Order: sequence, then structure tokens, then C-alpha cells
Amino acid sequence: MTDTDLAIVGSGFGGSMLAMIARRLGYRVMLLERGSHPRFAIGESASPLAGILIEQLADRYDLPRVRPLSAFGTWQRTYPQVACGLKRGFTYFKHETGSRYKADEQRTNQLLVAASPSDELSDTHWLRSDVDQFLVNEAIALGVEYHDLVELDGIEWQPTGHPLLRGTRRGETFRVRAQFVVDASGPRGFLSRSLGIADRGFGGYPATQALFSHFTGVARCDQMEDYDPGLADFDWGFDATPYPVDDAALHHVFDGGWMWVLRFGNGVTSAGVAVEDWLAAEIRLADGEPAWHRLLARYPSVAAQFADARPIRAFTWMPRMAYRADVAAGERWAMLPSAAAFIDPLFSTGIPLTLLGIERLAGLLSDPGVKTRLPRARSAMASDVSPYSALTLADADRTARFIAGTYGGFRDFPVFASYSMFYFAAASFSEMARRLDSPRTPRGFLCGDSDRFTSALRRLSPAGEAGISRDRYASEVATAIEDWNVAGLCDADRRNWYGVDLDDTIRGAEKLGLTRKEVRERLATSLSSPPCAL
Ligand SMILES: Cc1cc2nc3c(=O)[nH]c(=O)nc-3n(C[C@H](O)[C@H](O)[C@H](O)COP(=O)(O)OP(=O)(O)OC[C@H]3O[C@@H](n4cnc5c(N)ncnc54)[C@H](O)[C@@H]3O)c2cc1C
Repeated sequence: MTDTDLAIVGSGFGGSMLAMIARRLGYRVMLLERGSHPRFAIGESASPLAGILIEQLADRYDLPRVRPLSAFGTWQRTYPQVACGLKRGFTYFKHETGSRYKADEQRTNQLLVAASPSDELSDTHWLRSDVDQFLVNEAIALGVEYHDLVELDGIEWQPTGHPLLRGTRRGETFRVRAQFVVDASGPRGFLSRSLGIADRGFGGYPATQALFSHFTGVARCDQMEDYDPGLADFDWGFDATPYPVDDAALHHVFDGGWMWVLRFGNGVTSAGVAVEDWLAAEIRLADGEPAWHRLLARYPSVAAQFADARPIRAFTWMPRMAYRADVAAGERWAMLPSAAAFIDPLFSTGIPLTLLGIERLAGLLSDPGVKTRLPRARSAMASDVSPYSALTLADADRTARFIAGTYGGFRDFPVFASYSMFYFAAASFSEMARRLDSPRTPRGFLCGDSDRFTSALRRLSPAGEAGISRDRYASEVATAIEDWNVAGLCDADRRNWYGVDLDDTIRGAEKLGLTRKEVRERLATSLSSPPCAL
């Protein structure tokens, strides 16, 4: 029997990040992992909000060695051995069954949204086997007690109210008594199963499945005639795309689903599909690799991109993607957002949601009343964590509503592109508000603090019955996001190509509750601040 303050189940990036923060706050921390590092993990594409959250958590909790992971430039310089890829933005191409992709002059079947002004400040794709191993080693170096190959059988509560985890490690009985347990074991994970927590699902959300692997030899779209505007036979009126379309989270969108293509710097590419059940049934997704080829056969330009690609690991089939626990925290336990819910990889929401949850739990752990010893009275604990549970699940519900809307828009790409502006407005506003220390910084994901934003997100969802024409639809979305639009979004003249122009942010100073001078000065400081104190 071992005693600890905080037992964290699961050593993905989320478990290790929280473990490091709790150590910095003075807790005894035990990190328990079923497998062993390095190991494959999915969830690879970061985002601007993820980057600023890493920066802020690293600064707030004195984790200078983690801070370089917040952007591509500092990561490459500091940890070249930890593989990552360049993610300059979000690229979408809409495909029609049986036809090669063909760009049109108005760019109605593509959307490029830059997320950073340069490679230096760019977001990243994380090769999770490398990243998670790096972070677990950092946690160990900070004094976290780490045990891998642990098979937990369950959790029980002692008469004192303390949780007791029991299981085995290499055939030996393993028992840990903790003050508090955090489940960082992913959706349908340890606490969901041992506490019998129901999967509530998301009302109105389509049933979806996934199939994915890692590949070598995936061609770049910007070297393929189908996609490259420079090779097309009309004048685009632009010298270049806002960023190289492949150095991004690249999405191939089609009726009933979409494919992600994420490149790492080591020649490996992560690719997979998320599809509605009806399409999964048509291509018999459960078959794995043969189903992958059946899907490619429907979309010639996607097939051409994968003509020389080779999978370097077995395909993983996920028969059901979305998961939503009925409750995310209780007396002396809490789930990370990634254990409480998962929706879909579209728009890379998993990593920032997890980091937001870590920020909230870190706030609870930092509470002076809690710091000396994790919450003692069971009732106090329950009242402490119920807002965490509610916020975590509200974020998940809002995200699911948004993703359901985008699935509804796949058939009509201009509608999808317009609706996606809710995400891009919220993400860029949240990032900038944090970066510039705005009094209007949203605390919930997708601007969840604003009823106006949330109700517009619901009202204009393509999954619902908006009942308005496509032209008016775009302008309705533009009006709805106006107060959060600090990135020049919804501008028809840009014909679906959005670069990063910091003047848009300066012009949007008032929306951030700041003056233009304040925005200019804080941008200069924030974007040039030294990445770490190494
Ligand atoms: C197909 C797919 C694609 C995704 N793509 C993206 C993306 O591009 N961008 C994004 O932001 N998010 C993405 N996500 C979400 C992302 O995976 C999660 O948000 C992220 O992995 C959460 O990290 P984590 O460390 O909390 O959990 P995980 O990465 O799930 O790690 C959980 C850890 O717990 C361990 N574990 C599990 N059970 C036990 C147990 N019983 N006992 C001990 N240890 C246990 C596991 O071995 C693992 O090490 C994707 C998810 C899926 C399913």
C-alpha cells in the first residue's frame, strides 16, 4: 500500500502535464500507466489556443522546459529529437465521388485558414510517441512517481473517504491510497468503467466511426496538378496561398465524412478518416486497410496523393467515436476533459480542451485552502469539483453541437466554410485575448461564456433547419461572429483564403476591450518573448 496526494491514471500528454503542475504546487504525485513509453497515441494536431495554453501553463507553474513545445520554432531549436510537424493552418478540399478535384476560380470548394504568421510561431503536429515519452520523463525529473505496466482493477473508497486504487504490476499486487484521483486515461477510460458512468452521448450528433494509421510516401498536394493553383489554367490573382497547403492540418472533405493528413518532420504522415455510419457501412470500414483503399477509390485525387504511400503500422478502427460521460467529477475524483468526452478530430479540439481542463484543475489545486493537503472534507470536495464537471461537459456539448453542424454542411461546402467561421473566430479571439491579457478573455471553449455566440452557433447550424438562402447564410454568420472577429474572417473578397494579418487584430482592439496602442504594444511583447529560460 502506497500513499500519495494525487494519483493520475494515464500518462498521455494530459496526465504528464497535470502531474508536473501538481509537483510544482508541492503535491506528492503518482502517475500510473497501463502501457509503457514510447507507444503510439492518436491526437496529434495542435492549434493556436493549445499553443498559448502551453505557454501560459508553463509560465504560471514554472515549467520552462515545456514552454518550447508551444510553437514550431522554439520546439525545433530546443528539442530537435522530439518529432513534430509544421502546422501553419487549416486546409480543406471538398471532393465529389468519382471525380478528380478541380479548383474553381472562386475557390468555392476549398478553404485555407492560416493560424500563424510564420513558421517560427507556427502550431505543430505532435508525434505522440515522442512527445508523450518526453513529457513523462520531464515529470519524473520533477519528482513524479511513475509506474508503467500497471493493470488497475478498480477503485474503492476507504471509511476515511480516501480513494484506493487496486491492481497489479508485473504480477504483483498494487495498491495506492490517494487524496484525489484524476482520470487521464482517455474516453471510456478507467473511471468511466470502474464507476459505471453512463455514456450520455450528444443529442442530435451523427453516429461516426474512424479508421487511421501512419504512412510514409504521402505526396504533397502542392506538387499535384489537381490542387496547386500555380499549375491550374486560370489566374488566381494571388501570388501564393497564405501558407503551403500541406504544412497544415489538411482535410479532404466529402459527403458523409472527411480525411485528415498531418505531416511530421521525420517523413511520417498521420492520416485517417472519420465517417458517418452509413458511409462506414458502404465501404465496410471494419475491414481496416481494404476499406481504406475502397474509400480512396471513390476520390481519385485523394487516391493519387496516396498512390505511393505505405502504412507503417496496422490500421486502427474505432467503431464509435463520440463519447460523453454523464458526469466528469465527483468526491475526490475528476476526469480530464479527454476522459470525460470525445467528439471528433475535426478542428483539432481535443488538445486545447484537455489543456483547458488542466488549467481548471490546476486552479483548484492552487487554491490556498486546498494546497497544504488536497481537500479533506468529502462535502467540500464535492462542491469544489461540481463546477469543474459542469464546465467540462458544457464545453464538450457545445463542441459537439458545432461539429454536428459541420457534418451537416459537408454536402454544401460554401455552407460548411461559412459555419466553420464560428470556430475560427472563437479560436483566434480566445488566443489573442489570452495573449494580450484582454478583460474579455473567454474561459469556456468556443466562446462558451457568451449566450449570444452560443445561441447563434445553434441557430445557424447546418444540421438544423436554418431555412435561409446560401447568400444570406454567409452574411448571417458574419453578423453573428462580428464581435469576436479579430482575424478578418467572413470576407468574401478573400475567396476562402485567410492569411494572418496582425492589423486585423489591431483594428479589432475594441472587441478585445483594449486600445489599439495596447494591442500593438502587447503583440510586440508577446510574440517576441523569449521562449524559455533554458
Ligand atoms: C482518431 C482521433 C484523432 C484525434 N486527433 C486529434 C487532433 O488532431 N487534435 C486534437 O487536438 N485532438 C485530437 N484527438 C483527441 C486527442 O486524442 C485527445 O484530446 C488527447 O489524446 C488527450 O490526451 P490525454 O493525454 O488526456 O489522453 P490519451 O492521449 O488518450 O492518453 C491516455 C493514456 O492513458 C493510458 N491508459 C488508458 N487506460 C488506462 C488504465 N486503465 N490505466 C492506466 N493507464 C491507462 C493510455 O495507455 C494512454 O497512455 C483525436 C482523437 C481521436 C480518437
